[in-house]
Amino acid sequence: MTGDGRVSGGQKVLVAIDLSDESGEIIERARSIAGDGDLHLVHVQEPMDTVYMGVVPFGPVFPGVDEAEDKLRDELRKRLDHWATRFSVAAGQAHLRYGTPASEIKALADEIDCDLIVIGTHGQKGVQLLLGSTANSVLHGACHDVLAVRVGAKGDD
Ligand code: AMP
Repeated sequence: MTGDGRVSGGQKVLVAIDLSDESGEIIERARSIAGDGDLHLVHVQEPMDTVYMGVVPFGPVFPGVDEAEDKLRDELRKRLDHWATRFSVAAGQAHLRYGTPASEIKALADEIDCDLIVIGTHGQKGVQLLLGSTANSVLHGACHDVLAVRVGAKGDD
């Protein structure tokens, strides 16, 4: 990064989005920092057994999980492509990964050798902070600069 907080031309910025409406705010912020730099987007599909553990019975009692994950992947791909098109990010730079969000974001950052990771944060504190968040997990252990963009309602502390 340069002294004024922008990355210089030709550098890569990886923007992690959860595909919620707040994604636009995060990408816009990344775009303003990236300037001429190259934007990459990433969304990570979490395995259903992680997301619904304890809520939905799995194994032989839920044989449709693979098909459900395939359908979800198609839907997530469409939503990710929507954000990529809206912000003129090349299709090859909109990455859909599968796994634990923080680990996959860090792994992709290594693979594409980016200069900066941009991620949203709701400014968790108290119990939420103790439990951790994707932003916290990326911040702790990333080998790259990380910018956490505060998203959500102003004055929500
Ligand atoms: P959270 O930890 O859920 O409050 O999310 C904070 C930020 O982490 C989001 O604004 C995104 O930047 C990023 N994030 C959360 N979940 C994902 C995901 N599944 N894929 C990519 N980025 C994510």
